Amino acid sequence: MGAPAAMRMREAAPLAFAGRWARRIARLALPQACILCGASCVNMSQRPMCPGCDADNWNEARLRCRVCAIPLSFVGARGRSGERYVCEPCKKTPPAFERTFVLADYRAPLEQLAVGLKFGGRLLVAREFAHGLGRVATDELTLEHWPDVVTPVPLAHERLVERGFNQAWEIARPLARALAVPADPALLRRVANTSPQSRLDLDARRRNVGAAFRVERPVHGLHLALVDDVMTSGATLEAAARALKAEGARHVTNFVALRTAKD
Ligand SMILES: [Zn+2]
Ligand SMILES: [Zn+2]
Repeated sequence: MGAPAAMRMREAAPLAFAGRWARRIARLALPQACILCGASCVNMSQRPMCPGCDADNWNEARLRCRVCAIPLSFVGARGRSGERYVCEPCKKTPPAFERTFVLADYRAPLEQLAVGLKFGGRLLVAREFAHGLGRVATDELTLEHWPDVVTPVPLAHERLVERGFNQAWEIARPLARALAVPADPALLRRVANTSPQSRLDLDARRRNVGAAFRVERPVHGLHLALVDDVMTSGATLEAAARALKAEGARHVTNFVALRTAKD
């Protein structure tokens, strides 16, 4: 670098620094629109959701299966000791993953958020989901059960090209930051195309995504946090977890924003 260029950089650095701070302060002071209700408020936490929507939507009193996060009735949740809060299907046929955390049911008005993220590219929604999931992890997991790597459920290549982004990765990246662990967008790869899930029954859905993932990195002995926006039958997460376990992964925990209440 020549002397004049170095001088210009020395002069420019404090300006860039001041600019960054000015933008940060402006963001704090300016009202921003809530991603759910659209009301504008000065949100000092810089969260994309306003405090009212946060209180109304993220504090569901739901008893869920600890393995697959399906909502349980209280009576159904009482099993033999040590098996509490595990649904019958998970007891009978344990999935390849050990645990699932979700923020809420897939329901109005929250479903708008998932749709807005996936089809409208509203990336602020992903930040909100990641914030909530990070909070759940901090509340529920001890350090010895902390994930080693965060990775998204990958999209099929054609869908990624069409959409331009993977919504699961947009959630996984800030979640990894919140958990202070590495994030890897390319740890899993889809190797088979699947037909749209919504038209198939549960058995067909499980077959449809069977063996659809390939593990692209060494995962032996690792605890993987697998991230997705929505969980319906759980077949996609099951297929991804099965691929990870086949490569020696120690533990798989799913982090999903919204879950349909029934398969
Ligand atoms: Zn709101
Ligand atoms: Zn279950």
